[in-house]
Amino acid sequence: MAPKEQHLALSSGLGLAGFAVANFWDYGSEAIECFKEEIIESIIKPSKETAIHHYLSFFQDIYKEIDSLEEYGDISAIYEIVHRIIDEVNLTPNLPTPQFNKCNDQYGHFECKCYEVIEPWIDYAIKNSKKINDLIIHSAFQFIFQDRRFLHDFHLELSKLIKDEMDFIKHKYPDYVTLKNRIRRQGFPIWLKQAVFYRDKGTCVICRCDLSNLLRSQNQIHIDHIIPLNVFGTNDASNMQLLCESCNTSKGDKSTETSSINVPFWNL
Ligand SMILES: [Zn+2]
Ligand SMILES: [Zn+2]
Repeated sequence: MAPKEQHLALSSGLGLAGFAVANFWDYGSEAIECFKEEIIESIIKPSKETAIHHYLSFFQDIYKEIDSLEEYGDISAIYEIVHRIIDEVNLTPNLPTPQFNKCNDQYGHFECKCYEVIEPWIDYAIKNSKKINDLIIHSAFQFIFQDRRFLHDFHLELSKLIKDEMDFIKHKYPDYVTLKNRIRRQGFPIWLKQAVFYRDKGTCVICRCDLSNLLRSQNQIHIDHIIPLNVFGTNDASNMQLLCESCNTSKGDKSTETSSINVPFWNL
């Protein structure tokens, strides 16, 4: 089953992804702690809403963003930003557009008719904030999912929480914890196998051998936990990478080896 095409808000997503990665070293553990219960629920077995999605939601709040725009002192600037976001998430409200060029107000359009036209745009964005936030978060995820080095660091940080919270996890999800107090291995759903295969371009991320089986079918595909379950890694969908059988065997259940090797659109 091929993934369905979907409209994504890539510009907003790119901004959020950059912000969330840049702030990871200062706020990572706080954000993870803040969404602890949601994250634990999404990591016991592969879920389409990953720990990264929850981490991103710590930084994404359209309501707060609009609220902070009020300081601009010019309602036309607020409108531009709100309109751009609504447009980017592909929402099409049936609302009249303001005509700033036909207005004589020179003090931010707070007192004139323009304000009455813009207010419904702001209300509309706030009313649809869940939908807007979710789409921007999923768009940001598209970028972060490609950054195996960051995924490694993120899941290494998350493993500390898993270790600390093991008693809680065991109590709440007894079927998902082993006798050795580690998260239990789960099967990989087809959507996850395909995504990891596609992201890693059908090659082992360590030795770079071809796993596409186009010319030879000797090489077996292995989906590997970047942070192994044995060292408190999880089944989170963003903790996976593509390996060949021999690299998977030599990586073992303690190494967190990954690589940042990728295939650029072209080489410089
Ligand atoms: Zn005006
Ligand atoms: Zn390999």
